[in-house]
Amino acid sequence: MNSDKLAIAKSVEGRQEKIWRISDAIWSYAELGLEEYRSAKLLADILETAGFRVDRGVAGMPTAFIATWSHGSGQPTIGFLGEFDALPMLSQKAGVPKKEPLVPGAPGHGCSHNTMCTAQALAVITLKEVMEKKGLSGTLKLFGSPAEEILTPRPFMVQAGLFQGVDVVLDCHGDSAFQVTYGMEGTAMYSFIVTFKGKTAHAGSFPWMGRSAADAVELMHAGTERMREHLPTTQRTHWVTLEGGEAPNVVPDRASTWYYIRDLDENVENNFKWALDCAQGAALMTQTTYEVKTIGAIHQRFPNKHLAELVFENIKAVGKPAYTEEEEAFARAIQTEAGYSVIGMDYPLKLTSPESEPLRGGSSDVGDVTLIAPTVGMRFPVRVPGSPSHHWTVVAAANSSIAHKGLTAGAKVLALSAFDLLMNPEVLAKIQGEFAELRAKRPYKTLLPVDAQPPLGLNTELMDKYRGAMEKYYINP
Ligand SMILES: [Zn+2]
Repeated sequence: MNSDKLAIAKSVEGRQEKIWRISDAIWSYAELGLEEYRSAKLLADILETAGFRVDRGVAGMPTAFIATWSHGSGQPTIGFLGEFDALPMLSQKAGVPKKEPLVPGAPGHGCSHNTMCTAQALAVITLKEVMEKKGLSGTLKLFGSPAEEILTPRPFMVQAGLFQGVDVVLDCHGDSAFQVTYGMEGTAMYSFIVTFKGKTAHAGSFPWMGRSAADAVELMHAGTERMREHLPTTQRTHWVTLEGGEAPNVVPDRASTWYYIRDLDENVENNFKWALDCAQGAALMTQTTYEVKTIGAIHQRFPNKHLAELVFENIKAVGKPAYTEEEEAFARAIQTEAGYSVIGMDYPLKLTSPESEPLRGGSSDVGDVTLIAPTVGMRFPVRVPGSPSHHWTVVAAANSSIAHKGLTAGAKVLALSAFDLLMNPEVLAKIQGEFAELRAKRPYKTLLPVDAQPPLGLNTELMDKYRGAMEKYYINP
């Protein structure tokens, strides 16, 4: 690293402890999608205090925010994506290497999102100082993005025009390696809830008076199971029954099912339409009615190669954090308990592409952003190697010194990469040139149905159920 870059890395370290505490506090709040009132406020407040203009409640989501700061000509504009939502049922004690919930049944940070918007905040606050000192022009825009776990926010943020004028986007995600990817990633997806309405009746005395909504749900499942056989092999289709009646002697007049329909961008709309036909068929067969509520509709991800290469140079420059014997022992204990390979904190620094990694079935709403601006997702090490996402082993490590070190390393890479983009307009031009080719091949069009709205309140009941019990474990930022 040259002296400028070394100074940036030092400056990140100078602020890290405050941000670590915020990450731990957000870990303890463990707020589900669109319920992240405390987490979003904490992040927005610290950015406002640091001199950013903060717009709260953007794109129809009370917990979405944008923090903006401009200097000089204001060009170029660099976007940063930061998430902070938790997952249901994953409560876990911090630093304990066996499955032991803090509040049984409560949400937990099983995808380490507590470290992500915090890493971005650490990066942009440091960059602001660097730009002021060096008189660098540009705009920094941190997109506080709620509800990633329900794959909701970014298409709505794009639709609201919030990414207009953004030249390049740096996304990040906690991981058990230090890596970055380019090419085509993941699957496009429709997430939606179908609710059937029938007529209730005494199932023994007057069954002919009733029309079962639960039957409709079963028949819709039967339909999509047959549909699945005839979809392209790249598809993933899964569902859970949300409501299916409460007693066998009462014909259920209301039942609902939640679907994820995933496939490549070019197939997903047809698969979704077919699934809706199954809903209609089920309603006809049972003389019930139905409605469809969209939770999310997202594209595949197409991260930029030139941008990924730039970020990878900075991953190599920052390198792996040094781990203590205690941290190595904790990693080995988790790996032994969970049945992973016992390798301690051994993980690679990687630049991956579709040629080196097979296409996997997961999805992220960052996909829509990758189609409207050159974007990359840097993955930084805040987990014990072997830990899969959405697992207690992630929660156990996400509030620990391992996560703190990873968060700092991630923030350094983000700040250094943004610094490179500000200093080298010709590199940014190359990145944008590559993006122009992608855009010509895949012009952006939202997958959201016309009347779709963010599903506010989706997690309110679940969050309310546990918030009281969780409060006594809240960590002071
Ligand atoms: Zn995640």
